[in-house]
Amino acid sequence: MQTRLADFIRDTAEGREAEAILRKCVHCGLCTATCPSYQVLGDDLDSPRGRLYLMKRALEGAPVTRKTQLHLDRCLTCRACETTCPSGVRYGRLVDIGRAVVEERAPRRPLDRLARSLLAFGLPRRRLFGFVLGLGRLARPLLPGALKAKLPRAVAPAGEWPAPRHARRMLALAGCVQPSLAPSVNAAAARVLDQLGISLVEAPGAGCCGALRFHLNYQEKGREDMRALIDAWWPLVERGEVEAIVMTASGCGVTVKDYVHLLAHDADYREKAARISALTKDLSEVVPLEAIAQGAARGRVAFQSPCTLQHGQEIRGTVEARLARAGFEVTPVRDAHLCCGSAGTYSLLQPAISRELRSRKLASLQESGPDCIATANIGCLSHLQGAAQVPVRHWIELLDEALRRKMPA
Ligand code: SF4
Ligand code: SF4
Repeated sequence: MQTRLADFIRDTAEGREAEAILRKCVHCGLCTATCPSYQVLGDDLDSPRGRLYLMKRALEGAPVTRKTQLHLDRCLTCRACETTCPSGVRYGRLVDIGRAVVEERAPRRPLDRLARSLLAFGLPRRRLFGFVLGLGRLARPLLPGALKAKLPRAVAPAGEWPAPRHARRMLALAGCVQPSLAPSVNAAAARVLDQLGISLVEAPGAGCCGALRFHLNYQEKGREDMRALIDAWWPLVERGEVEAIVMTASGCGVTVKDYVHLLAHDADYREKAARISALTKDLSEVVPLEAIAQGAARGRVAFQSPCTLQHGQEIRGTVEARLARAGFEVTPVRDAHLCCGSAGTYSLLQPAISRELRSRKLASLQESGPDCIATANIGCLSHLQGAAQVPVRHWIELLDEALRRKMPA
C-alpha cells in the first residue's frame, strides 16, 4: 500500500514502523474471513483491511472523526488477521500506533471518557477491584442482567500453595483481576509445578502487567504499569533466582512477552524489558508433556483457545495435548480461531458485539456436548462463565485435580 505520512509523524519511530507495516498490505482482503467484528457487522470498515485504510488516512493527516474512532474501537485486537495475512502485516502493532493518533485528534464524548477513565482507574488496582466485586456480589439481585452476568456466582477458594522447597524456581504474575475472580488458578499452577520439581513464587508489590490501561488507550499509563512490574520483579531476576516468569493468563502473557517492543524506546528500561520478555513463558510452555502421567479416562472438555494464546503468542495445541495426556477427551471446536468477544474491557465497552460473539463461541464450544469448557485466560473465563451451560475452568485447575486424584492418600 503506497503511503505518504504527514509531517507530524513521518520522522518518528512510530511513523517509520507504521509506514513499514502499511507498505506490506496488498489489500487482498484475505484477513476479512477471520475477523470477528467483520463477521458480525459485515462492514468493510470493521475489517482489518478497512481499518488499515482508516489508519493510513489518519497517519497521512486526513481529518479524523468519531466514526474513524468507532471502527477502531470495534476492533477486538484479537490479531486473527495477523495469523491469516499472507503478507505478514503486523496489524496489532499498527493499531496501537493508529489508536494513539486517533485518540489525540478525535476527542471522545464525556460519558465515554468517564467510563474509560473509571475502568482504567479501577481494574488495575487489585484491592479496589476485589472490594467492588464483593459489593457487586452482595447487591447482585438488584443489578441489571448485563452487569449480573459479569459477576461470578461463586469464587472457588485458592486452596493450598506449596511452600518453596525446590532449587528450580519460577515467578508467577498474580495480576490485577484474577486474584479476585479466580484465586485458585495460580495456586493450582503452583501445585502442579511443585509436583514437577519447580517452586512457583510471586513477587511482593507486583501489580498489573499494563495491558488494561494500554489497550484503553492510556498508553503512557500502561507503560508506567509495565515499568512498575519490572521494578517489582527485577531483584529476583537480577539475582538469577528464577529461571522463568510464568503467565497463567494469556492476555498478560502476550503483553509481557511484548515489553521488549513496548519499551524499546525507553533508554532506562529497554534492556530490562528485553530480559523480562525473554524469560516469560505461558504456563503451557513450562509444564512438560512427558511429565504428565498418562491418565485414566476423564470427562469431555472443550478448549477455548484465547486469541492472546493462539494469535498473539502463536501457541497452538499445547494445552489440548496436556489435557488429553491427563485423560480428558478434548472435543473438536468449530471456528476455534474466532474471538469469544471478551477482549479485556471490550465486553464492557462494546457489549452488543461482545455478546453476539460469545453466543457464537459458546454454540461451537458446546456443540459436542462437553462436560466442561477450559480456557487459558481470566478475561475469557469470566466472560464465557456469564452464559455457558457447563462449568468454565482454567485448564490448570483441571490438570491439578487430575494429578491430585492420582496421588496416594
Ligand atoms: S490479508 Fe494482509 S495483505 Fe491482505 S488485506 Fe489483510 S492485511 Fe492486507
Ligand atoms: S485484530 Fe481481530 S477484530 Fe481487529 S481487525 Fe484484526 S481480526 Fe478484526
